[in-house]
Amino acid sequence: MKLLVANRGEIATRVIRAATELGVETVAVYSEADAGARHVVIATESVLIGPPPATQSYLNMDAIVAAAHASGADAIHPGYGFLAENAAFAQRCIDEGIRFVGPDARAISLMGDKAAARGTAVSAGVPVVPGTEGGVASVAEAERASERIGFPLLIKAAAGGGGRGIKIVHDAASLADEMTMAQTEARAAFGDDAVYLEKFIAPARHIEVQVFGDGLDAVHLYERECSLQRRRQKLIEEALAPGLPEDVRREMYSAAVALSQAVSYEGAGTVEFLVDQNTNEFFFIEMNTRIQVEHPVTELVCGVDLVREQLHQANGRNRSLDQMTSTPRGAAIEMRINAEDPDNDFFPSPGTITGMELPMGPGVRISTAVTAGSEVSPYYDSLIAKIIVWDVDRPAAVRRAKRAMGELLVEGVKTTAPLIVDLLQTPEMADGVYDTGFVERWLDSRQEGPQP
Ligand code: ADP
Ligand code: ADP
Ligand code: MG
Repeated sequence: MKLLVANRGEIATRVIRAATELGVETVAVYSEADAGARHVVIATESVLIGPPPATQSYLNMDAIVAAAHASGADAIHPGYGFLAENAAFAQRCIDEGIRFVGPDARAISLMGDKAAARGTAVSAGVPVVPGTEGGVASVAEAERASERIGFPLLIKAAAGGGGRGIKIVHDAASLADEMTMAQTEARAAFGDDAVYLEKFIAPARHIEVQVFGDGLDAVHLYERECSLQRRRQKLIEEALAPGLPEDVRREMYSAAVALSQAVSYEGAGTVEFLVDQNTNEFFFIEMNTRIQVEHPVTELVCGVDLVREQLHQANGRNRSLDQMTSTPRGAAIEMRINAEDPDNDFFPSPGTITGMELPMGPGVRISTAVTAGSEVSPYYDSLIAKIIVWDVDRPAAVRRAKRAMGELLVEGVKTTAPLIVDLLQTPEMADGVYDTGFVERWLDSRQEGPQP
């Protein structure tokens, strides 16, 4: 196998490292903004694929396929974001004689339309959030459905992702306007104006189950708790979920495995659920058919390398799925460091990193593609580093997370690090008791309260 990595940033370095450990040669692709980037340096070879805008480089299928042929790569790993959940790209790879490291185009499209995925979940016996069967095409249809669902409800773009394309509607009076806006925005952002409705579950926890399939069978690798979010984007994730009752946990694993089996899922995937904090009822929200940003916390507690397993899978698996799973040990926490200004509404903060010190020591894992002197480009996602810690139990992991964050220094660009440091000090984090609305309530109360 010779592997082309169709991505950039920390996930490209993550995938290249896994391949290198298997003795697999790697091909990095890069845009003009990424010449000399870390993923280019550590790959066996590299190919320039276009100008900085992603549509002309990391989303440019022709350029990426051409780079694979030119370099003799016979497999492509898409990472997350960009082309990772693009069924047409997965099919194009196969048609071009290139292995796509991920599920087949059929599974990607079954799950890629979030409205249709709800139907697939229902057929597999998996509970979904009360809402519409499929998409809603008109305001009149949405109004009829809202009588059954109640308010508040969410309008969600069927093609949405990355926390975008979701609108909350508090009452019947604002439904028509919000519906029209949601459709317009979805068309602009995702090229698809299909939307569907879901009851707004609150207070809720976002808990997701890692799955891995071989097309015939699937296993779960326990869960991640990802409720610490701002604008529906995850800031901190943990494995396992603190305080989740054992019976609920087991039922969620069964549901995630049943859904994976129902679509003959191949490779690594994540089944996302909301858990109603009052009743502990859980509801499917979506399946991500790719490696997830927060996969390292699962790796640390499960003692598995998910990207290595993805590569084994693409290479014709010679390990049984059961060999991947074991009893989880200890607790892991991931903190996302974004080049954004928490004091200016999280506005992106591109520029040159003039100084950078990373935490080290026991139980600390870093995933980053930048260092002092690196340029943070305005063209791409603002995630610049992930600090991941493991320790024997959750209280120890929280202490280690604080210690690690205390060692982190990033100069030249604004980052979310100071916010993460403060979040780690909250009693909610200490106790592991928080819901998806906690971070925003906490941010609001800080704004109102006295500034230190
Ligand atoms: P995770 O659960 O892995 O964090 P996210 O939903 O936060 O997943 O997305 C991870 C990455 O994928 C981010 O870089 C995000 O911007 C990108 N992404 C996910 N879905 C889409 C989409 N439909 N369109 C564009 N980017 C997306
Ligand atoms: P994306 O594809 O952008 O990741 P998701 O459907 O996974 O979108 O939802 C992202 C986040 O939005 C969830 O983690 C949760 O915090 C919130 N959310 C989604 N659906 C609901 C819902 N029905 N009720 C309450 N919150 C929701
Ligand atoms: Mg999601």
